[in-house]
Formats: sequence, C-alpha cells, structure tokens
Amino acid sequence: MQRPTPSSRQQGASVGPDPSGESRPVTALKGVGFSLAQKLGRLGVETVQDLLFLLPLRYEDRTRVVPIGSLRPGDRAVVEGEVQLAEVVFRKKRVLLLRLADGTGFLTLRFFHFSGAQQEQLQRGVRLKCFGEVRRGPMGLEIVHPEYRRADRGDAQAVEDVLTPVYPSTEGVQQGRLRVLTAQALKEAATQSVRDWLPPELLADLGLPPLAAALEYVHRPPPDAPQDLLAAGRHPAQRRLAFEELLAHQLSLRQLRRELRRDPAWPLTVPGQLEERLLASLPFSLTAAQQRVRAELRADMQQAHPMLRLVQGDVGSGKTVVAALAALRAVEAGCQAALMAPTELLAEQHWQNFQRWLEPLGAEVGFLSGKLTGKARQLALGRIQRGELPVVVGTHALFQEGVRFARLALVVVDEQHRFGVHQRLALREKGVCEGRFPHQLIMTATPIPRTLAMTAYADLDVSVIDELPPGRTPVTTVVLPDSRRAEVVERIHSAVREGRQAYWVCPLIEESDVLEAQAAEDTAAVLAEALPGIQVALVHGRMPAAGKERTMARFKAGAIGLLVATTVIEVGVDVPNASLMVIENAERMGLAQLHQLRGRVGRGEHASSCVLMYRAPLSETARERLKVMRETTDGFEVARRDLELRGPGELLGTRQTGLMQLKVADLMRDADLLPRVHRAAEMMLERHTDNIAPLKRRWIGAGTRYGKV
Ligand code: ADP
Ligand code: MG
Repeated sequence: MQRPTPSSRQQGASVGPDPSGESRPVTALKGVGFSLAQKLGRLGVETVQDLLFLLPLRYEDRTRVVPIGSLRPGDRAVVEGEVQLAEVVFRKKRVLLLRLADGTGFLTLRFFHFSGAQQEQLQRGVRLKCFGEVRRGPMGLEIVHPEYRRADRGDAQAVEDVLTPVYPSTEGVQQGRLRVLTAQALKEAATQSVRDWLPPELLADLGLPPLAAALEYVHRPPPDAPQDLLAAGRHPAQRRLAFEELLAHQLSLRQLRRELRRDPAWPLTVPGQLEERLLASLPFSLTAAQQRVRAELRADMQQAHPMLRLVQGDVGSGKTVVAALAALRAVEAGCQAALMAPTELLAEQHWQNFQRWLEPLGAEVGFLSGKLTGKARQLALGRIQRGELPVVVGTHALFQEGVRFARLALVVVDEQHRFGVHQRLALREKGVCEGRFPHQLIMTATPIPRTLAMTAYADLDVSVIDELPPGRTPVTTVVLPDSRRAEVVERIHSAVREGRQAYWVCPLIEESDVLEAQAAEDTAAVLAEALPGIQVALVHGRMPAAGKERTMARFKAGAIGLLVATTVIEVGVDVPNASLMVIENAERMGLAQLHQLRGRVGRGEHASSCVLMYRAPLSETARERLKVMRETTDGFEVARRDLELRGPGELLGTRQTGLMQLKVADLMRDADLLPRVHRAAEMMLERHTDNIAPLKRRWIGAGTRYGKV
C-alpha cells in the first residue's frame, strides 16, 4: 500500500513563500534529513507547524534538585549526591549497585546493563546528578537505570529551566531530538506567529489564552506551572488547544454530513402495508418511544438521499423490532435490506427473530456469516445478487469481497458502538447499487449524553428510544466485598435450583489477555468444585470463535447452569432464563461497561439480580460508581452520573472516547467545552468557511482526514 511520504507532500507545499511556516516541510529545519522526516511522518508530522501540534503526553520536573530524604515511591525527580558505595553483585545476572547520599538520606541506583567503562567511572566518591522514577526496593528507595551525569566536573549541566515535555515517541526519534525540534518550531512561531484560525468574535468570549501563548506553555511549562492541572489536562492552555481540536473534528464531521446527504438513495415511499401486518402480528404494541423513532426512520427513508441515523436505546428497549419495520419498508419498495451484527451469535439471534417476524409476510430472510462456506455460500451469494433474498442477516461477512446485492436500500448495523466514521463510510461504499447509496441505521445500546452524541456522531442524526416496554421487573443490584464470596456462590446454587441460570464475569486485565484468560480458567475450576452438580462452562476472549459460540449456544439452550466469562459476553446476548449476574472486581470497571453487563439479566419474567463484588479498599470514585449502579437501572441516568464522576486519572472506558483520534482533547474531561464547540462550528460554517480547511489540516492532518473512502 502506498503511504503518503513527507517528500510527496513537500513538493506541493514548498511552492511560494509561506511566512507562517504553516506548510514549510520539517526538512527546512536544521538537522532534519530524509530519513528523520520519514520517521516524523509516522507521527503525523510533516510540516514545521505539525511539530507545534505534536503535544507532550506528560511532563517531568527537572527544574530543581530534590533532597533524597524527601523522596517518595513513584516520584520522578532529579537528585544529586555522592556515591558512597559501588559494587557489582550476582543475582541471576550481574547487577551494579550504587549507594548515593546527599546528607538528607540515601538511595540505591540499580543497573542491570552496564559497560566496563561505566563500572570504571561510577566509583566511590564520585558526585552524580540523576533523574529517574523512585521505587521501593529491597534496601529502601531506589532508581533503576537512572539518567545520570557527573556533577563534580565542570560539565554538569544545570537543572532545566522549564518542565521537561515528554512527547509521544516513535521508533527512532528520541525524546531529546523531539525537544530540539519543537524548540526550533517554537522559535519560528515566536517570530512569525502561528496563524489563529478562530475568528476574533469567537476568541473574545472564549476566555482562554491566545493560540501562540497556549502552544508555548504546553511545550515548555515554566517551573512554577501547576503540575496537577497539567497532568489532568485541565490547564487553560491545554483547554484552549482542546477547544480547537474538538472544533476541527466537529467541522470535519459536519462537512462530511453535508456531503453524504447530497448522494442519491432509493426513496422508499410506500404505503407501509407490510409494516402494518407485522405490527398486527406482534403480541405487544410499540412503546411511544418506539413509535416516535419509527416515524423518524420513515421520514428519512422517504428521501432520495441516504438516511444516516443512529438509534440509541437502552438494553431491552426494543430496537430490533424497529429495525425489522425499517427493513419491511425496503422490502415493500422492491429493494433489499441487510442487518449486520458484530458476532455470529448475535447474528443468529437476529436471524431467528427476523425469520419469525418476516417470513409469514412472505419476505424470506437469508443468513450469511464466515461459517457459511463452499456450496452453501455460493448459493446464498447467488440468491442475494439476483435479489431473491429481500432480507439478509449476518456478520461482517455481509460486506466482504464477493458479496453483491441486487438493490440494497437499507443497511442496519447493530450494537456497533465501536463503529467509527471510517467503518461507516466503508460500509456505505460497499452497499452502492446502481449508483445509489443505501440508507444506514446504526443501533447502539450505549447511552451517550446528548452533547457527547452531537460531537462523536456529528455526521449522524440521532434518535433515542428512551422508554422500556412495560412489565419489566428492574434488576436488583447489590454491592458486596469479595470476602463474602461464599454467599455469592450460595446465590448461584439457589438460582440454578430454581431452574434459572447465572453469569460470572471475571476481572478485566488490561495488560494481558493471556493472564485474563488464565484467571478466568482458574475461577471456572474453583467454582465448578464449589458447585457440584451444576454445569459450569467458560468463555473468554482467547478461545477460538467457534468454541465460544458453541458454549454460548449451549448456555442459551439451558444446558449450562453457570457461565464463567471474561467481558466478552458484554454485547447483546439474550438469554431470558438467566437471572443472576455476578461481576468480580466491579470497582475496576467503568459504569457504561457495568451497565451493559447487567443488561444481560432481567430479560425474562423472573426477578433478576446483579451482584457487584469488589476488592477492598475502595477509592472514593469507585465507591460512588458502585452506588450509582445500586441506585439506578436507567442507562441514561447511568451515563449522566458517569460523566459527572469521571475524574482525571480514573480508568476510562475507552469505548465512548475512542471514537475519534484526539491528541489533547478528551470527550469526557472536556465535555463542558462541547456546547461552545458546537456553536463555534455553526458560526464558522456560516461566516468563516475559509478558515475551516486550514484548521482541519492542522488538527486532523492528512493521515486521518475523514472523507469518502
Ligand atoms: P434491544 O433494544 O436491547 O436490542 P430487543 O430488541 O432485543 O432489545 O428487545 C428485547 C425484548 O423486548 C425482545 O424480546 C422484544 O421482542 C421485546 N419487545 C420489544 N418491543 C416491545 C414492546 N413494545 N413491548 C413488549 N416487548 C417488547
Ligand atoms: Mg439488541
């Protein structure tokens, strides 16, 4: 695949004088040759200006020497002292240990790798200035592999006079190099001033520092900078940049939305007889919220331009039937509809529902997944291409190479909150038939507060099913320390004795899915022993898909009493007979995730419960989070409280924030900026259209620019 190289852009960019440095290639800087430029290109840095927008991830304080006696584990600090003891000891390997003292205390410096010359140099009596992270070691505090300099020869460099920025690094570009380069870029910016693309009328009431000052500050914070604010990303200089970045993304999505809505689509103007017949055959009537959303979809699909609509609805709010109604509109117009689910299991679940609902109306429902191979697949593909299957349900396989539709008018994507702009675009491209784009309906159970939805999904219209069907018994949630595990096991016993089923969700281990799988296996073994006579099975992310699905199918069929799982079961599984959900280490999970997991129970007529187990001690925020879960089962309320609670430094569920590649901004942390971002975007789209392209270029760049795929 051809990647845009720095040099290919350079040619276009270097034409004509450009005093702002806006498009001056990085190679214009001293010491930047082709190979370095290429490496920088991998960081998205192609111009001098790009360097200014390559923002530090964090800072180190090397502005002052810290007395050793005042160090605490976890500090990253500069210390200076005299080597009192130097020895090489043999643990499995040779280790060089130095004892450094400064009169206030002493510290061990530990080197696992060292040269003969280093050993020679680092002798007793030598004065060193070191920087590194302090940790607790076997002999008190220590630093492993500190950066160090001799402090007793005139060559000792004074401490730094600004906080040291730490940049996102890439193979082959050292931090030191990035610091030198950003210093050059800042110097240029100071004399030539970076162009501020925000209109003056906007800047006036933003109440944040000007762009140039903000950039200078975040790249080189003064020694007295409030480090807690900086670490939290809440300094006004950072917020100023976050505002611009969010604005650039908002503008980009809004323009994309305009563009997409100019394309042709099948206008589905039909009387709606099939829909009426489906409604008449259902054992329930639609909730008011379902009716409202149905009307919104109908209005969209009657247009000759593609619908792009996100339907948000809490777990169990009845999104599937709304999708089925939309599909029937396409069928009645003589077109096709496709529904895509993220897993085989979910796809099969939908297939069964759709067959039950649509086939009595004469609309055959096909199925296509990765499992379908050989002759059966060929047969299905042929029928799809000839238009003999008006509705097709499946997995990603639906939009793979070789799948052609005769007249695809509607694509429904279920439970795909991981679906970003790019995937949405790719999908619609693949669905083009006879030059027309399919209508798109995206369904998600992740409730997102309105301002966030307007930001992350600015290219979509949003509908909300904010009501559950009547007659559900809300899930009771209890919070227990894991010291009361035995009681929880007993609950499983009694649930299964009553003919119900249970889930046990093992902790998420972010660093390693191997460890996570292992922990889940251990838990399953322990529980199987504690629950004689009960079928215990396990699913985790490292199992092959087929095995996972076999187990899930057996659970659904009732052959398994307790399903031990990692968080893989989070999305969409529908087993109405399951009435108990146990979540271990719930204090480590985000609210959105807990809510999704809890949504797996309470789907049948049985009273259900959810046990959130935690390991003491609980942090203040974790305690609050678990309290929210106990107090409400309403997904939107959960999301609202989530937004309030999420402080910096807490583990973020990346799902909601991972929709966009953001450099400084954080959708959660900076949520309070969003209303102003939206107003600013409107103003610029109306009155300052010329400023939009350079602003987008600056923040979104060439690499990740949205656009038609
Ligand atoms: P989700 O929005 O989580 O995808 P589903 O579409 O799976 O929810 O619906 C959950 C259950 O509620 C299904 O069994 C569905 O048939 C049922 N259901 C949907 N709408 C209604 C309604 N208006 N009244 C009663 N039950 C409904
Ligand atoms: Mg669903």
